[in-house]
Amino acid sequence: MAYRIPSAKVLEDSIRRVIREQQSIPSQRRFTELVLEDLKRKNPDYKVGEVRMRKMALHRNLAKVTILYRETKEPSRKGRCPVCTSPTEELHNLTLDDRRVELGFKCTKCPYWTGPRKRVPVRYTFSMIGAIVPPAKKRGRYAQWKFA
Ligand SMILES: [Zn+2]
Repeated sequence: MAYRIPSAKVLEDSIRRVIREQQSIPSQRRFTELVLEDLKRKNPDYKVGEVRMRKMALHRNLAKVTILYRETKEPSRKGRCPVCTSPTEELHNLTLDDRRVELGFKCTKCPYWTGPRKRVPVRYTFSMIGAIVPPAKKRGRYAQWKFA
């Protein structure tokens, strides 16, 4: 079946609209469904995956993403963030004799972190960041139109 990948701009607009309407969505799957519904109003062939959606929401700061975790028995390791694929950095603690103790890792971009035992994300909540402030450009255009 033919399908189209929405551009970053188109996807960003849909994410913004859905977040504004819903305020808070406690599931990544539901979030993706809602954005897809919005996209399909423009083009029924649009497709988008949950990971792309989550990464875009995080990287472009479109939504506040809250992560629920499950702790595994495996030790945590340095590497790419499982939430947004950005690099992670080590978390340390200083002991009394100034020796550094490794505590875990945190993402350099998003809220993900893990202790010495690897934490795995199990659920995401997407919610709106702050209040709705209309973009300045839009206000300007409206003003122009009003006084023309
Ligand atoms: Zn991350």
